[in-house]
Parts: sequence; C-alpha cells; structure tokens
Amino acid sequence: MQTLNHENDISLVSNAFGFLRTPLNFEPYSSDADVVITGVPFDMATSGRAGTRFGPNAIRQISTQLAWEHCRYPWKFNVLDKLNVVDCGDLVYSFGDNQDMVNKLIAHADKLLASGKKMLTFGGDHFITLPLLRAHAKKYGKLSLIHFDAHADTYSNGSDFDHGTMFYHAPNEDLIDVKKSVQVGIRTEFDEKDGFLVLDGAAANDMSVEDISLAIHERVGGSKCYISFDIDCLDPAYAPGTGTPVVGGLTTDKIMKILRALKDLDIVGMDIVEVSPAYDHGDITSLAAASIALEMLYMEGYKRM
Ligand code: MN
Ligand code: MN
Repeated sequence: MQTLNHENDISLVSNAFGFLRTPLNFEPYSSDADVVITGVPFDMATSGRAGTRFGPNAIRQISTQLAWEHCRYPWKFNVLDKLNVVDCGDLVYSFGDNQDMVNKLIAHADKLLASGKKMLTFGGDHFITLPLLRAHAKKYGKLSLIHFDAHADTYSNGSDFDHGTMFYHAPNEDLIDVKKSVQVGIRTEFDEKDGFLVLDGAAANDMSVEDISLAIHERVGGSKCYISFDIDCLDPAYAPGTGTPVVGGLTTDKIMKILRALKDLDIVGMDIVEVSPAYDHGDITSLAAASIALEMLYMEGYKRM
C-alpha cells in the first residue's frame, strides 16, 4: 500500500501496491532488484474455465495478509532484509494477440535476466511458462524443470498457444532436459515415454516429504532448475479457484514442506500460475499462491544468509 503523508498528519492511500505491500516499480531493469515479480494477466491458452488474467492482482491483494510477519514462520530471518524484491506490476500486451504476449514476455525476461536479476512470475494460465523457459534457457542453457501440477502438460495435440502443451514443446526446443526433470502431483493421464520422473498424485500423497525431496535431489543433481507451480497441484480443498481442478491432490502443508526441503537447489527462475479468482472461496487459492510465492522468495533469501 502506498501512503502519502502530509504535514497535517493526513494520509492518503492507494490500493495500487505490489506483492507484500511493496511499492510498484515500473523501471525494474535499471533497479537494483535481486528478484523481480511480474504479473502476466493472460488466459487465452486456457482449455477449460478461463479467468486467470485476474490471478496476479488476487495474489497481490491477499499478500497484504502476509506482510506483517517480521520473520516468516518457520524461517529465522526476514526475507526483505536479504533480498531486494521489486514488483514491476503486470506485463502489457496487445490483448487477443497471443504471439504479442509471447514476444513481450521474452523481451521483458531477456532484459531482467541480462542484468543478473531473478524472476518470480505470477500467471495467468500455465502457457506463460513456455516463453519464460525460452528466455531462461537462452541465459542459463538447458534447464532442469521441477513442475508441480495435476496435469503433465506434455500433450502434443494442441495449438501453438495451449496451456496443456508447454512441456511437449520445451524438450523439443531443447529448453529443458527431461532426464533431469521431475513432475509432482500429476493425477491425469500422462505417458512415461515423455521421459520425466513423475511423482504422481497418489505417490506424492503417500511418500514422506523427505523421500520426495530425496527423489527430486537425485533427479536434478547439481543442475540449474526452474520451478513451475500450477496451483492445481494442490487438492481442490486447498485451491478451488482454478480452471481445471482435479481431486486427489496435495495439501498446502505438504507443499510448503517440500519447497523448504529444496532450498539448497540452484533455482534460476520460478513461476506460480493458474489462480482463477472467480472460482475461489474466501481467497483460499490466492492465499495459497501468495504463501507459496513467499516461500519461493525465502528459498532465495536463504542462499544469501
Ligand atoms: Mn494443471
Ligand atoms: Mn499446468
């Protein structure tokens, strides 16, 4: 929340604020940010219920509920003491022009990554991960993908703009190495021939956090990782506000513990996608997304202790 203090102790306030009530900064490239948050209000690649264009602001709004805690439980430091986090607002593109969104998002990411910043991006539908991977792979080389989702998103039968096809295209474009990549929480049809390690929904619910962490560490090794988090990895009880919910998912508690267990990995980029506020109740889903986003920032802050 941005507040203007006047000499008579009168305060004016605006609801235009960034994640955790940080001031929005529309000049992220020249800033000294460590991590830049970008909203991508794009839902033109959605197969089911649309509405994720409203995701970024729902996450920002509910993040005000997370801004008061000095040292977030159970971490022992304040992430904003370790990281300069800049929220640059939402990417502008010619709406209805999917290729324009792709071009603008890659150009935006190229500029941020060239100046050594990391990105945490809020969708939008999951398709936005493909242009983000193109930019990150250009900078870092072929990546390991750590993908949380109810869906494999490896389908080959979609159009060029389809939120179920990114991880079919990404290996074909040499953006990711499937042999060093893992998918967690999948509970819709997938093909083992795609080559990912799949810790499916049933297995991930039965395995301990330690065993999941061990499997992910063994899979990605010391490689550079990109984390893509589709909110429908969570069970609809924990994330009803999404376009294609699937029962049998993970709890928020388990997801937070898994993420914390991955804090030592070499993570070069992160996104959280598919929050669709029109289907949410009591901000359950946007609060889960904002909390996961904050955990991701703490994972980065931990490396700068
Ligand atoms: Mn999904
Ligand atoms: Mn997805």
